[in-house]
Amino acid sequence: MLEETIRALKSELPPDVELVAVSKFHPAEAIGEAYRAGQRLFAESRPQELLQKVQSLSASCPDIRWHFIGHLQTNKLKLVLPHVELVQSVDSLRLLQAIQAWANGHDRKVRVLLELHVAAEETKQGFSAAELFAALEQAVREKAFPAVELCGLMGMATFTEDERVIRRDFSRLQETYREVRARYPELESFKELSIGMSGDYSIALDYGSTMVRIGTKIFGARR
Ligand SMILES: *Cc1c(COP(=O)(O)O)cnc(C)c1O
Repeated sequence: MLEETIRALKSELPPDVELVAVSKFHPAEAIGEAYRAGQRLFAESRPQELLQKVQSLSASCPDIRWHFIGHLQTNKLKLVLPHVELVQSVDSLRLLQAIQAWANGHDRKVRVLLELHVAAEETKQGFSAAELFAALEQAVREKAFPAVELCGLMGMATFTEDERVIRRDFSRLQETYREVRARYPELESFKELSIGMSGDYSIALDYGSTMVRIGTKIFGARR
């Protein structure tokens, strides 16, 4: 069943849109099943949970890939950064500075997406547009984060049945993404727009999504 869902999803997505399977709260066995069905890229939102899954799956799933999509505290960087190829949820200047320090100290380049807050919910994390452009100014003009590769934007639409609201939110994300690329052509790696979850990914495709993050539709409800 999981295999069928993944196959159906992949056939629905344009070939240049990456499917990120959000496995948070689901056991390692479910991830193994998705892996055997051909899925390689997974995302987690809690450092300890990521670490446990990395450890239990590394032998049986040798070319598994991980993204981090949750709120990341600076004191947890050392748990997360060695294991992920992309942190999608960079939501503050302070976190960007801490990632720069870690990457510099470990002689690594860390790939990140900047998370833009557009949804109506107060609780959803992310930069405001003003904060985002302030951080980009520091990155580009002052070269403040040379060990961090800014690979694009991530965002979430308001959790609602009202499709107009979802379209408004995705449209803002796409506009901001385009504005960043127009203003900072030197950011050559700024190519990803990570929008779309189980409930709204087909709408996100209308707004230039390059990466959809899908949990519930693949793995079922989280407990
Ligand atoms: C949990 C989560 C998802 C997946 O949500 P589903 O509705 O289960 O597909 C996507 N993105 C982020 C940032 C999440 O935290």
